Amino acid sequence: MTEKTFDVVVIGGGPAGYPAAIRAAQLGLSAACVDSWPAEGKNRAFGGTCLNVGCIPSKALLESSELYHRARHEFGRHGIGVGTLSVDIGAMQARKRGIVEQLTSGIEALFKSNGVTGIKGRGRLLKDRRVEVTGAGGTEVLQAKNVILATGSTPIELPFARFDGTHIVDSAGALAFDRAPGRLGIIGAGVIGLELGSVWRRLGSEVVLLEALDKLLPMVDEQVAKEAARQYKAQGLDIRLGAKVSATQVERGIVHVEYSQGGKTEKIDVERLIVCVGRRPLSADLVAPELGLKLDARGFIEVDSHCRTKVEGVYAVGDVVRGPMLAHKGTEEGVMVAELIAGHSAEVNYDAIPSVIYTAPEVAWVGRTEAEVRQTGKPYKVGTFGFGANARAKALEQAAGLVKIIADQKYDEILGVHIVGPMAGELVAEAVLAIEFEASAEDLQRTVHAHPTLSEALHEAALSADKRALHAINKA
Ligand code: NAD
Repeated sequence: MTEKTFDVVVIGGGPAGYPAAIRAAQLGLSAACVDSWPAEGKNRAFGGTCLNVGCIPSKALLESSELYHRARHEFGRHGIGVGTLSVDIGAMQARKRGIVEQLTSGIEALFKSNGVTGIKGRGRLLKDRRVEVTGAGGTEVLQAKNVILATGSTPIELPFARFDGTHIVDSAGALAFDRAPGRLGIIGAGVIGLELGSVWRRLGSEVVLLEALDKLLPMVDEQVAKEAARQYKAQGLDIRLGAKVSATQVERGIVHVEYSQGGKTEKIDVERLIVCVGRRPLSADLVAPELGLKLDARGFIEVDSHCRTKVEGVYAVGDVVRGPMLAHKGTEEGVMVAELIAGHSAEVNYDAIPSVIYTAPEVAWVGRTEAEVRQTGKPYKVGTFGFGANARAKALEQAAGLVKIIADQKYDEILGVHIVGPMAGELVAEAVLAIEFEASAEDLQRTVHAHPTLSEALHEAALSADKRALHAINKA
């Protein structure tokens, strides 16, 4: 057994772990990043769920399916004829794999240029900050001054709908279908269910989403969630609320799904079933028990606001700790911890983390919803603006949705921004900056926005909070 020593060893090379290792190396620390992403197959070890089977491949397919949809339904309105339209899912998947391959190999290049040691294998934390790594070549032990746990999360499996890789699949399986299923069932109309449902709907599947809750997207501002639901319905997504799945059975290539709704037992048959009912942290057997590292009831590693665990020199970041399971939240935590280890002061502003649902249209938000602001009991004002009155959205043939800004009535501080509409995920960046800088509605009102752009909808929503909107003919 050999023993190498590092200032920082990161276990997990996803979007929380690999930036932590890079930042540590940039700050002059010796850093290693250990990851056990399946060595077989084409995927490389680093990048985690996000790059290999999550954010990146799903966005590649979202784009392809959206282009197909637009070619089918919108090109005619632009006066463009394309003859007989066809779709080649194999080519679509190959493009997706190419993007994943480029980005994952990019991490290895970044490690090289920053002097990070990438180690392929499964890491486990032992006493005295020793990290045992088990890989194809056997086991080695690294000695670390600091350890960052960044092992991420994995899809939750339901006991009555076990993944079989073909008929009942998780989100990764649903990104690898070789054709659009005739009828696709989805358990859970959360972020993943809606994103994947949109992809396969646009590629021709009949999509039924079974959601246990009575409300769609409860974490989204109600007005925005309602508008999103209206648009999903118009696209043909069959979202059944209050539908609790209780049993499934695969028979001759068909998945029989049983669920209860309104006190009645209902059944549907689907060709493929995606189960996306949330993810759980990957914290089991990660740390030797004698260290006494604390996990909460759901398996999240307990940390303080600076991602420090109770064990000296051991930190945890990303999906394996509390907070939203978002790649960018994990990245900022990883960077913060690397900076703290290097002796700098650093923090993450958890009040200014954007969320984006990558459906078409996108839903994006930052800060508090109107219901949350109402609960504080403090007076507030709301400005909304519909994309129906935005010139650029009209030119894009995407003039639906709205921007909503909530600001403190007395101090004018922007408390929340909620968007459903074209490029909402890009537009929200301005709102994140506004909240980060504690901007007022007036700050946004007095900021010049280029014309004609989608960003004018944010400007108008800010103006509307003080009843000054210039183009508010058409409220969404
Ligand atoms: P989720 O928590 O967003 O949604 C799961 C849904 O499943 C919930 O609405 C829940 O009520 C429902 N559900 C649970 N059990 C059910 C049952 N038996 N029958 C019917 N419905 C049931 O989880 P997800 O969509 O799996 O996503 C997992 C995590 O990954 C989330 O934290 C999400 O934020 C994150 N993620 C984010 C993005 C993004 O930011 N764009 C993309 C993908 C994933």
